[in-house]
Amino acid sequence: MTDGQTLLAVFVLLYLIECLRLVPSTAWMASGTGKSGWSSLRPWMRLQIGSGSPLLLSPLPPMQAHALALPWVFVPDHDSLRVRLTDSMSVRIAWDQLAPRVEETLLHLDTVTRVRLPSQALAEIWQQRLTEWRGLTPEQRRSAFHKHARTTLDTQAANKAATATSQLTRSLRRCATIHFMWCFGVISVLYQRYGDSPAVFAAAGVLLLLQFIQSWLFLRSTRKSAFIIPHRRWRALGIAFLPQLAMRAFDVVNLTTEAEPPHPLAWRGLLDEKRWLQNARQFWREARYVPGWSQSESLPLEAEALKKFFRHEGLAEEDYDPPAAGKQPTCPRCGAEFQSGITTCSDCGGVELQQPAV
Ligand SMILES: [Zn+2]
Repeated sequence: MTDGQTLLAVFVLLYLIECLRLVPSTAWMASGTGKSGWSSLRPWMRLQIGSGSPLLLSPLPPMQAHALALPWVFVPDHDSLRVRLTDSMSVRIAWDQLAPRVEETLLHLDTVTRVRLPSQALAEIWQQRLTEWRGLTPEQRRSAFHKHARTTLDTQAANKAATATSQLTRSLRRCATIHFMWCFGVISVLYQRYGDSPAVFAAAGVLLLLQFIQSWLFLRSTRKSAFIIPHRRWRALGIAFLPQLAMRAFDVVNLTTEAEPPHPLAWRGLLDEKRWLQNARQFWREARYVPGWSQSESLPLEAEALKKFFRHEGLAEEDYDPPAAGKQPTCPRCGAEFQSGITTCSDCGGVELQQPAV
């Protein structure tokens, strides 16, 4: 490798590191521009770092805006609080063991359990909310949860927030796209052809100029939210001189927020309807057919909140909970088919199987 190639490889690596974010393991990320046609990204849940998981934001141009959503992490049960750590793992903490404490973006819940939240402000909100919930009666906790569910499932607010965030960073993202092409395209081609030559130095000068523009655009678009962006001026200085920071400056603007993130299902209209419906079915199955579920049981709290939401959205029950089509007993949670005679799915912690219609 020549010096130039090594430098380029270092730039690519630094750029990819800049695209990585440590997020709550249960988080969802939407990436896109405009008012619809966004796609969703998930973190690598198998990798647990500091009670969160890494997520790679869309790295390739044209640069996309990002918005974060969070499923319901805390769900009150009769005698305990259920805490969702990953998609497939939850723990229960008895109400009298619950002692929420904030450490930056981490929320410690008892002596061993901790959850990473998207921001310290949100960790503080949850510390206060859970302390409140602890003192309530089971009935009051249910209605407090329903209130939280309603706020986070507001599709209009969620879509508006995502669209606004994409609007706010439009010039930053455009400039970043040009900057990306210039850095990894134009300069590498010029270097390959001419080596260390005035043309390459001139192109590097243009790169620096683009970074100065990015730095100014960054300061302009964060003027109103300056108080929530940590070390804003230092960051602007970094954007002016470090290409990887300049190319991803819009992420800081998009992802630094103190607002409570919506539930991923609130992105109806933003995501493609087919994808949204798939997500709706999955959330429903997991909320409705909890481990140990049997036909005779009443609706769990989360499923109750989802059912209300689906009704409000005009979604029929067979849309979000389609009956099994197979001729064999089927697990309503994971969809696995079993031989006749078997009544529960052991993979799902003993969920009662649905028998085929005769
Ligand atoms: Zn199953």
